[in-house]
Amino acid sequence: NTALVRVRDLQMHFPIYSGLLRRQTGAVKAVDSVSFDVMQGETLGLVGESGCGKSTCGRAILRLYDITGGEVTIDGTDIGQMSQSDLRTKRPTMQMVFQDPQASLNPRMTVEAIIREPLDEHTKLSAAEKEAKVGELMDAVGLNRRFAKRYPHAFSGGQRQRIGIARALALNPKFIVCDEPIAALDVSIQAQVVNLLEDLQEKYGLTYLFISHDLSMVRHIATRIAVMYLGKIVELAPRAELYSDPLHPYTKALLSAVPEPDPAIAQTRERIVLQGDVPSPANPPKGCNFCTRCPAVMPVCKDIEPTYQEVTPGRFVACHLFETTGTAEKTAGYI
Ligand code: SF4
Ligand code: MG
Repeated sequence: NTALVRVRDLQMHFPIYSGLLRRQTGAVKAVDSVSFDVMQGETLGLVGESGCGKSTCGRAILRLYDITGGEVTIDGTDIGQMSQSDLRTKRPTMQMVFQDPQASLNPRMTVEAIIREPLDEHTKLSAAEKEAKVGELMDAVGLNRRFAKRYPHAFSGGQRQRIGIARALALNPKFIVCDEPIAALDVSIQAQVVNLLEDLQEKYGLTYLFISHDLSMVRHIATRIAVMYLGKIVELAPRAELYSDPLHPYTKALLSAVPEPDPAIAQTRERIVLQGDVPSPANPPKGCNFCTRCPAVMPVCKDIEPTYQEVTPGRFVACHLFETTGTAEKTAGYI
C-alpha cells in the first residue's frame, strides 16, 4: 500500500493588506500545516464546515495556487515549488471535479468541445483519435453520444456533472480532487453520481481526495477520513473507526449531528451542540484552534498548540487529550 500523494506541512496563507499604503498587515491562514497521504487507489474524505479550508487545501495540492509552504509529492514528483510552466507536464496526472458543474462548464462550448479541450491542450492526437476518445469518455460517464453537439444548458445538473467528470478523465489522470461534486445536485441524483465515481475509480484505478461538508455522505465513498477545522486537520482515521469511535472533540460534535444508521453506535451518541462561532482564520486563537468552542477544553489548550500525531496505528489526532509524547512536559503546571 503506497502513497500516491504525500502532503507535508502544507501552508496556504493569503495576505491581508490594509491602510492607505496597502501594507500587508496579516494573513489568512486558510491551510495551516496540513500533512497527510492519499494511498494508491483509495478515497480519502476531507470533511469540515464551510470555510474550514478544505477546498483551498484541494486546490493547493493540485497547485492551482502558488503555495505558501510545505511539500506536495504526487506520484514521486515534488510539485510543491514547481513553476506553473513545469507543472504543465504534470497536469494530466492530477485533475479536479468541481462543485458547481454549471459554473465550471463553458456555456458557449458543445459537450464534445468541452471534453476535447484537455486533449487539444495536452496531446498530439489526430482529430479522428480525439473524436473516438470523446465518444469513449461519454460512454464511460453514461452520456449518450447523440448529445455531443449540445450545449451545457440543455442538460440536467447530474448530466452536467457527468460532463465535468468526463473532461477530468480525458488525460487518464491518476489522482482526482472531487470538491463537493454532488453538493449542488438533487438528492435523487447524488447517489447516481457517487456510484459513477466509484465505478470509474475501479475501472481506471483512480485515487480520490473527496471533499465534503457532509459526514453522512463521505461515509459511503471514503476509505479514510480527515476532519478539518480552521485550516488544520484535527483527526484522520479509517472510516469505520472514525464513525464508531471518534476521538477529537470536534469530530464527536460533528458526528453527533448526523444520523447514525448503526443502532449500537447510535445508542452511545449524545447530541453535542457547540457554542460560539468558528473564529476567523485571520486571527485564530492561541493554543489549540478549537479551544474557544471545545467542551473538553483544559487550561493547557489555551496556551499550547497540540501536536498532530499518530496515536494508534493509522489514527492521527491533534488534541492534548490524546498526546502520546511530550504530554508531561507540556501539561506541567496545568493539570
Ligand atoms: Fe479541546 Fe484541548 Fe483537545 Fe483542543 S486540545 S480539542 S481544546 S481538549
Ligand atoms: Mg468549498
